[in-house]
Amino acid sequence: MSKIISCVSLCLFLLIGGMLSVHADSGLTIKQGQPFKIICPAQALPVEKTAAAELAVYLEKTTGAKPQVVAESASGDASGNAYIGQCAFTRQQKFYQKELKPEGFQVTVDNGKLFIYGSDQNGDPYAADIRTGTLFGVYDFIEKELGVAWLWPGELGEDVPAPREIELKDFSRSDSPRFMFRLMTHYFNRYEPPQIKKEISVWAKRMKLSKVWKGWAGHSWDTYMFKTGMDKQRPEWLALWEGQRKKPHCCTSNQEFRDYIVDQCLTSKMNQKYNVVSISPSDGYGFCECEKCRALDPKGTDYSSPAVSVSDRYWAYANYVAGEVKKKNPNLGVAMFAYTAYRDPPSNIAKMEDNIYVSFTFSKAYFVKPDQKKKYYELIDRWNAKGVKMLGREYWGMHYWMSLPFIFTSQIKDAMPYLYNHGFLGMDGEAEKSFATQGPNYYLVAHLMWNPLADADKIMNRYYQGFGPAAEHIRKYYGVFEQSILDNQDKIKDFSYRELINSWPEIFPEQTIAQAGKCLDEAIVAASGNKTSMERVKFVAVGYEYTKVMVELLGIYRRLGRAGVPLNFFNRDGDLEELKQYKMEKLPAGAEEFWKKHPAQPLEKIEKIRLLKRAQFLGNERVRILNQYAQLPAVALGLYNYAENTKKFQWHPVVLKALADEETSKGN
Ligand SMILES: [Zn+2]
Repeated sequence: MSKIISCVSLCLFLLIGGMLSVHADSGLTIKQGQPFKIICPAQALPVEKTAAAELAVYLEKTTGAKPQVVAESASGDASGNAYIGQCAFTRQQKFYQKELKPEGFQVTVDNGKLFIYGSDQNGDPYAADIRTGTLFGVYDFIEKELGVAWLWPGELGEDVPAPREIELKDFSRSDSPRFMFRLMTHYFNRYEPPQIKKEISVWAKRMKLSKVWKGWAGHSWDTYMFKTGMDKQRPEWLALWEGQRKKPHCCTSNQEFRDYIVDQCLTSKMNQKYNVVSISPSDGYGFCECEKCRALDPKGTDYSSPAVSVSDRYWAYANYVAGEVKKKNPNLGVAMFAYTAYRDPPSNIAKMEDNIYVSFTFSKAYFVKPDQKKKYYELIDRWNAKGVKMLGREYWGMHYWMSLPFIFTSQIKDAMPYLYNHGFLGMDGEAEKSFATQGPNYYLVAHLMWNPLADADKIMNRYYQGFGPAAEHIRKYYGVFEQSILDNQDKIKDFSYRELINSWPEIFPEQTIAQAGKCLDEAIVAASGNKTSMERVKFVAVGYEYTKVMVELLGIYRRLGRAGVPLNFFNRDGDLEELKQYKMEKLPAGAEEFWKKHPAQPLEKIEKIRLLKRAQFLGNERVRILNQYAQLPAVALGLYNYAENTKKFQWHPVVLKALADEETSKGN
């Protein structure tokens, strides 16, 4: 009996003592020199191991603590300071949630211990298509609680506050991405140094970017029709065009063709791994001219017009396929581009099937032009009203901008919540390794893809804070370019390559370049004495040096092109020369129209030689800058290397030849 009593009192003592210690130990303090035990599961996934290792690195950097990562024993282990991933001890806690949203995570400080775990899968933790919720949770903690920012890929872009003691009260938060995929594709990366590619993929994970979503929306008829030989077996399924049934388009009113596509959605081998499968038509033109197809177009359609829309017939095809697919597999979605002649929503269908995903191609950069912004917002509204799901296919730093500082953070800030509230579920876009010129765009859009409703100003404040005492000067520096684009947007006729490449001297006139240079000079003065700030300002200065050279060079190419030097996109003969590569002899109508509006402007021989020499100097400077800083993610070398490898955009050799010709010829 006494044994029982003493046991009860001991239990009571332990209970009260335990409760008291819960109260006393509540919260977590991490300080200099303190050992800090990080526990990860006994059978940890690569993502859990990486997440624990990353936490250890950043705890040491931000607090001076001495973290150590150990594997949990099979029965659980209560001795850790932090638990990363699906530890047995974590799963015993009251707050533990068995079901997390895809890629979601929970971060909790409870009873003096830190817990971070998420929705994970096996595989390379830095691959974009691997679910890494625990790693996202750790990066979220490192950003929010430890105060680290990753301004751009690589060591220099990592902004770590000075080591200090960190005190965390008990808290718990769960989070998951609002956009189900968030991908930044750095085009021409295969022409960049290999270590840069690795740094970019690490940076992307730190921005919580991924594409684990199992869907595709690309041109699909090649897969279903042409690679299977169905175009030979059933030529009547091809578009009737100029009197013949031919590729690349199909006769979408043909019932057998439609049913074949339904069958391909369900049974095609490549579709087995997807939840959303593409039914997108082929690229290019050549739409069916048969009576049945045309009967589906709006009455009075003018087929001689270059802007003819086939939206009604193409989206009728999509709606039929989606409906039939849903009957056979209610979990399968179908995706199609809203693109070229079928970019608009159909006028003949009020509500579309709810398993349709519309892949919508645009750029927020277009929104610097108020008329474009209005047009796109209206189009998005009209699509949203059809009840479809929207996917964004975007451009945040594409090669049309030549790695120049086309900054549009205010458009990103405005459009992200709008898109999220109007049916957008995922987003991917093109970028380059041009973080010195376009870094603010990338940093903001990456953060807002995780949560489009987050405070964009706060995100940008943190970005500029990374420049220390030069923060406000660097903010002003990028602001000069952003404002210059807004002030001169009426000079950009449209965002086609030819129009843009001929507009840079107006988008960034001399006073813009000078003003930005002044901000940068002030930044250098402000950063003096602060080594890291100075290095980051110098990183931005690489972008400035490049911008100054490129804007002047493109302006000179334009003048030389008008004066007869055959530089493609700056001169009609240069365009024709470039077309020979593609075995084409005629310029597209848009190009002819452009050259009618931009007639020749001859130059005096002396002036022409002066400009050719200046273009020679600047062209060499461009290559010097790109190569000198190749190992930094500052300006893109990839596009230049691509052009060299494929012999496209060969402006420099054309300048050298023209200069040699001018110098050997006599008189004017
Ligand atoms: Zn047809």
